Amino acid sequence: MSAADVTSVAYLVAAVLFILGLKGLARPRTAPRGNLLGASGMLVAILATLLDRSIVDFRVLLAGLVVGSAIGAVLAVRVQMTGMPQLVALFNGFGGGASVLVAGASFLAVVDEGLVDNQLAIAAALTALIGVVTLTGSLVAFAKLQEVLSLGGFRGQGVLRAVLAVVAVAAAVMVVVSPADTGWFWLLVGAGALLGILGTVAIGGADMPVVIALLNAFSGLAASTAGFVLDNPLLIIAGSLVGASGVILTQIMCTSMNRSLFDVVFGSMATGGVVADADEVYGDRVTSTSAEEVAMILEVAERVVIVPGYGLAVAQAQHAVRDLMRTLNDAGTEVVFGIHPVAGRMPGHMNVLLAEAEIDYECLLDMDQVNPTFAQTDVTIVIGANDVVNPLARTDPNSPIAGMPVLNVDESRTVVVIKRSLGAGFAGIPNPLFAADGTLMLFGDGKKAVLDVVAALLNA
Ligand code: NDP
Repeated sequence: MSAADVTSVAYLVAAVLFILGLKGLARPRTAPRGNLLGASGMLVAILATLLDRSIVDFRVLLAGLVVGSAIGAVLAVRVQMTGMPQLVALFNGFGGGASVLVAGASFLAVVDEGLVDNQLAIAAALTALIGVVTLTGSLVAFAKLQEVLSLGGFRGQGVLRAVLAVVAVAAAVMVVVSPADTGWFWLLVGAGALLGILGTVAIGGADMPVVIALLNAFSGLAASTAGFVLDNPLLIIAGSLVGASGVILTQIMCTSMNRSLFDVVFGSMATGGVVADADEVYGDRVTSTSAEEVAMILEVAERVVIVPGYGLAVAQAQHAVRDLMRTLNDAGTEVVFGIHPVAGRMPGHMNVLLAEAEIDYECLLDMDQVNPTFAQTDVTIVIGANDVVNPLARTDPNSPIAGMPVLNVDESRTVVVIKRSLGAGFAGIPNPLFAADGTLMLFGDGKKAVLDVVAALLNA
């Protein structure tokens, strides 16, 4: 078997591992194994590529693997669950950036040799555009998720974006028509970079999760087109897998958020709408409660729905919530979880958290399943959720989250909301649920408040 054959077989093994890994990730129970399979595929792919291209000495490779693994392990252990979405945003961005760098360097080297053909030029132009949009867009998304950037849209932003898009597409065409003139390539990279920034900087409320899924798809597409530039089949396969799953995720997020992809990409990305005044919304109508009072209400409840949100992740209250569920179950109370598709800060955020606390997947109902059941629910406990239970999305067409489907918790007999204050959520708007007649506010840190309720139930 020649060295090229060994590389091809290694690529095939890696591709199969990626596909099996993705399949495993589709279910919480098989996800850890899927993760391991995917990571093993990546190890095979990296080793085969570096050895095949004789890029570096074997010892340097080993040293690189040790250092890279150490950084990865430290990151995995140290990053808080709440920091995960930002990390994923960075991974997406770096994926796009790496594609631009690698494909760009390869394209420019071939240009120097005067050997560019149409396929290479088209692939390089696409990689540059998609990759750089992914890089700058993801960096902005990172800053927004980290809450260090809270810019809104500005007048003329749509026009500027359209102009940049035209410039980028024209430059891409020129890269293909006249590849030797490398100025077009740099113009394409510059216009794409600004487009990525302008495309994400004003996103707020309901569109953010969709855009994060879209950037994820872009990072895969950029890797895939880079595979055509480098003539590397594994990169094409891996990129296509990420791109396709990202596109499917984007579609799912669009459906759940009631947005069309066209609107997200070209239309109403900007934070719009009128934000109501918090004092007007709350007035003196907010009723606060205590853990003991909540325990008394829960004691006579037959059906309880728990709605987790981003604050559950902040408070790391997943284990406390599991204890609450078990305590209620022991008393014969039915408990289910209502999971909104964009609760938290990344798709599947709540599922991951609750799975970590070994809460049975069967108890998690998605929005379409749980919404019709609120009217027959005695108590809904909202823990650290805000935007996903905000009735303004249904009732106020001028709200920034108008049209976003929400969990109709206000249809339950009693709603208990656990959070630290009347502070707003990601969309930055007040929530009339907190001042509604059937709502009791249990102010405090999510974990401590839930543990207090459990203690009160056990002492009753
Ligand atoms: P929100 O961001 O609307 O609200 C979270 C609430 O948690 C806050 O109001 C905060 O109130 C409370 N909180 C924070 N820390 C604690 C704590 N320690 N204990 C108790 N409560 C706490 O969260 P939701 O999950 O309801 O909604 C998600 C939002 O994020 C949506 O707007 C969605 O569009 C957006 N988004 C979602 C993404 C996704 O993919 N899932 C990605 C990007 C954005 P207080 O400070 O008073 O405690």
